[in-house]
Amino acid sequence: MFEKILIANRGEIAMRIQRACRELGIKTVVVHSEADSEAKYVKLADESVCIGPAPSSLSYLNIPAIISAAEVTDTQAIHPGYGFLSENADFAERVEKSGFVFIGPRPETIRLMGDKISAKNAMIKAGVPCVPGTDASLPDNTEEVARIAREIGYPVIIKATAGGGGRGMRVVHTEAALHNAFAMTRTEAQAAFGNPTVYMEKFLEHPRHIEIQVLADEHRNAIYLGDRDCSMQRRHQKIIEEAPAPGLSERVRSKIGERCAEACRKIRYRGAGTFEFLYEDRAFYFIEMNTRVQVEHPVTELITGIDIVQAQIRIAGGEKLQTKQRDIQFRGHAIECRINAEHPYKFTPSPGRITTYHIPGGPGIRVDSHVYQNYYVPPYYDSLIGKLIAYGDTREQAIARMRIALSEMVVEGIDTNIPLHQELMQDSEFMRSGVNIHYLEAKLAKDRAQS
Ligand code: ADP
Repeated sequence: MFEKILIANRGEIAMRIQRACRELGIKTVVVHSEADSEAKYVKLADESVCIGPAPSSLSYLNIPAIISAAEVTDTQAIHPGYGFLSENADFAERVEKSGFVFIGPRPETIRLMGDKISAKNAMIKAGVPCVPGTDASLPDNTEEVARIAREIGYPVIIKATAGGGGRGMRVVHTEAALHNAFAMTRTEAQAAFGNPTVYMEKFLEHPRHIEIQVLADEHRNAIYLGDRDCSMQRRHQKIIEEAPAPGLSERVRSKIGERCAEACRKIRYRGAGTFEFLYEDRAFYFIEMNTRVQVEHPVTELITGIDIVQAQIRIAGGEKLQTKQRDIQFRGHAIECRINAEHPYKFTPSPGRITTYHIPGGPGIRVDSHVYQNYYVPPYYDSLIGKLIAYGDTREQAIARMRIALSEMVVEGIDTNIPLHQELMQDSEFMRSGVNIHYLEAKLAKDRAQS
């Protein structure tokens, strides 16, 4: 096992990775920007290295600075967290070429999954169900593109193969709008991702977002840790996640889970990963694979008892998976609310000093956060300041505990989305379960129209 790991990230996930390392008896090196030098995990780290000024392009995305921090501290492995460089194949390659272990998949796997067309083809080959559509780039021929769209059937969605973060996509409802949409998506894809390649899929109109968590080791063992429902989203950003996804039968769950585990064996996947699906009319459609730990991993940890971050570290250290599929039991229900420093209804970011901070507790409550009273939320990064996670024997109990926890939680000095979460925990559609990915935006638009 490693003696020292460098954490190439910030915020709550840096804190989370540090906790996993400390529990395993591994020393931590934290790299940070000038804006994060007061962070809790920086103070708690065995060593810390400032790698640059606040803007992430100059610090958290600065590959040479991170590699030299690893060199001067004599680190053995690097954990990339999520976001920043976590899905950057060139970074993973540089880490390995410099003699460190990258805690994640092999660079070629990251590359394969980072391109949506190649990912889709790999999944089709591995027997994972995908959204009907093209499995190659669209030709530079308007007639041919129109024929493909007619064959798939409107509405269709044109997507950039190099797209990410919910960008580089356009929905098309009629042939009249097709030509323009095709040209615009290509131009945007070139500008945003440096690659104009686009493909086409059937646009699903009322899907849920359901994803499967997997773990795979270097010895071709792969298991699935069940599913999560992350349909409560705004602008493709998840805000509430839960496990298990309500309403799936054990048979459906194990069938899709097995498919994903098998796909991992076929592509020789290594580490933790997530297969994201749209789920509509009882069918799963693969949309992408995330080759890293996800924000919402705690809900899976709570229903399986498996520490996903520790598993990532053990796998990177070459260990075999400690758990067999048949040993995994899904117990109870867990819900996560992402607490963001933003206005609860206008969604404007709200950086600044936290003047009062009280976190909730009690049975089944977990808080993953790096903030504290008097912490200054910097304006440069993502607005996530923590995650409130509630566990219960049943979904109803988890919701009841979450309501209490939200009512106990006090964050003053900045705006947070706690009021929105409180409202959603009382929402009759959420309580009934199974809302689709458009539900939250439709509800917010309706509420705005009424007020
Ligand atoms: P990104 O990598 O940018 O996150 P994804 O392929 O994961 O892109 O898609 C992001 C979101 O876009 C999905 O969660 C879903 O809301 C929507 N989306 C993508 N493909 C489709 C589709 N075929 N039908 C309906 N919605 C889609």
